[in-house]
Amino acid sequence: MSDMLQFNELSAAPGTTTRGWITRDITGIEVKMPVYLVNGSMPGPKLVVTAGIHGGEYPCVEAATRLGRDVDPTKLRGQMIIVPSANPVAFKARSIYITPPDGLNLNRQFPGDPNGTFTQQWADWLFQNVITAGDMYIDMHGGDMIEALVPFVAITTTDNEAANETAEKMARAYGIRAMLVKEGAGPIGGTTTASAAQAGVPALLTEAGGQGVWHEHEVDILQDGVRRVMSAFDMYEAINDPGETVQRLGGWGWLRAEVDGLFYPTVGIGDMVEKGQDMGNICDIFGEELQSSTSPVSGEILFLVTSLAMNSGDPLMAIAYE
Ligand SMILES: [Zn+2]
Repeated sequence: MSDMLQFNELSAAPGTTTRGWITRDITGIEVKMPVYLVNGSMPGPKLVVTAGIHGGEYPCVEAATRLGRDVDPTKLRGQMIIVPSANPVAFKARSIYITPPDGLNLNRQFPGDPNGTFTQQWADWLFQNVITAGDMYIDMHGGDMIEALVPFVAITTTDNEAANETAEKMARAYGIRAMLVKEGAGPIGGTTTASAAQAGVPALLTEAGGQGVWHEHEVDILQDGVRRVMSAFDMYEAINDPGETVQRLGGWGWLRAEVDGLFYPTVGIGDMVEKGQDMGNICDIFGEELQSSTSPVSGEILFLVTSLAMNSGDPLMAIAYE
């Protein structure tokens, strides 16, 4: 028998699923967060899954809510806490990158600050209550409203070898080809998964979808991946499809906008490019070139901003190298 699964004021008995809302006042703003507690009938690992850290990324939200509905607790070994919309204020606002009350990117604020602004306090609440609540953590993303991407998974390593090994096993099980491994030395960047790894929780970032839409095949990539991880850790029955063969990639080369203007990329996601290759330019509204860009590395374009409007400091694209 599994133990009672308790999460703040919600609980689920062994072999049952509870769904409900957690409502918190954060700097005078109401945050109403949906959650599923799936408590297996047999003991096993506790897996935490979040989606919607960025409010405009939709396939992950749909994948998470379907997992909450569909995972059968009577067949589950272990427990799941699933949060299908972890940044509900941004979801309601259909916001790109940022959370409206203070304009901060939630996924740069972890582990958060209990005395900070709205987004910093919400990051702190999520970090304390959700992100570090389990034995393993998966944060699903989906390319923001102005981003196109090739699906990928990413982990951050730390000096905790056991956690690194578990995270890599999760990444390899997920069934998405492109796997990025960020060696943990240096700043963690305030992301969900890096802060979890820093706290000793094996954590996996997964990305599929983009451009403010959601498609069934992207929802399936994300929810099938979670099921493959569950099966790799003996939590649940295997699915028929093993997914893609994993390719470990060495890291990212980033291009960023240095000026405001209109962005004209000459490449697309999935393209293989050479170091020094022309990647497009940013022009003013009259067509005068303000910034040209060439690839800093040879590799595959996994991520590309697709909006014509471009602001100084924004990412343009990311090229993953072997
Ligand atoms: Zn995101």
